Amino acid sequence: MIFSGKTVLITGASRGIGRAVALAYAKEGANIVVNYASSPEKAEMVVEEIKALGAEAMAYGCDVSDEEAVELMAETVEKTFHPIDILINNAGITKDGLLIRMKDSDWDQVLDINLKGTYLCTKHFGKRMLKRKSGNIVNITSVVGLTGNAGQSNYSASKAGVIGFTKSIAKEFSSRQIRVNAVAPGFIATDMTEKLSEDVIEAYKKAIPLGRMGTTEDVAKAVLFLSSDQSSYMTGQVITVDGGMTL
Ligand code: NAP
Repeated sequence: MIFSGKTVLITGASRGIGRAVALAYAKEGANIVVNYASSPEKAEMVVEEIKALGAEAMAYGCDVSDEEAVELMAETVEKTFHPIDILINNAGITKDGLLIRMKDSDWDQVLDINLKGTYLCTKHFGKRMLKRKSGNIVNITSVVGLTGNAGQSNYSASKAGVIGFTKSIAKEFSSRQIRVNAVAPGFIATDMTEKLSEDVIEAYKKAIPLGRMGTTEDVAKAVLFLSSDQSSYMTGQVITVDGGMTL
């Protein structure tokens, strides 16, 4: 088990990609902090699934866009559970709409959770990793952060921001051997994509050379790779997991 003795905190792990990432680490022996915003019952269910795999786990509710709450989360989990070896910045939302009709609040909320949340968690957990001269960070961006997407200017901007942030922090943290990378998923079956219409889903599927939507487990494999010794000479990189959609 390649992550035995390690502790991983995954933001937004109550559902979707975050949940699959949490379970994949637990299967490899890691202890897990399941962060969530508004689904305590779902987060507790993930904790129970992790414990059934023989790993230690705790749920911690915290809005990643709230600096005081993030700072308290970092203090609390490191004091009461374990120091965090691996941080996965996964929490994210969409508030889609064409630019001319976009509400300022939809722009702000998406940027606050997707980009500022990544910044705040990296700052407060990264500070502790730097002191220990050890750690690893993986940020979840999106293919639309690379390509853009009509109707998703707020989301694309937040995810492009995560890519620039990843590369900058990879440079800042490299002297302490802390690697920072990103995974850019394509079209993955979760609650986030379930709300799209059948027509949109079919159009996306046609644009994917591998001919199917991705699974949350497809994404988890790339996340585990980037935080393992298998990628020991990689930092500041973005791995696209999209079935060839952006080729
Ligand atoms: P999801 O199923 O909608 O789950 C989102 C998760 O984020 C939930 O656990 C949610 O917690 C949490 N969250 C939302 N706001 C939060 C906040 N303010 N603080 C802390 N946690 C918060 O989404 P997903 O599809 O798994 O997406 C996960 C990540 O992958 C996101 O960053 C997303 O942008 C990215 N991504 C997804 C796709 C895709 O096709 N699905 C493609 C590319 C990138 P609660 O349950 O408590 O609300």
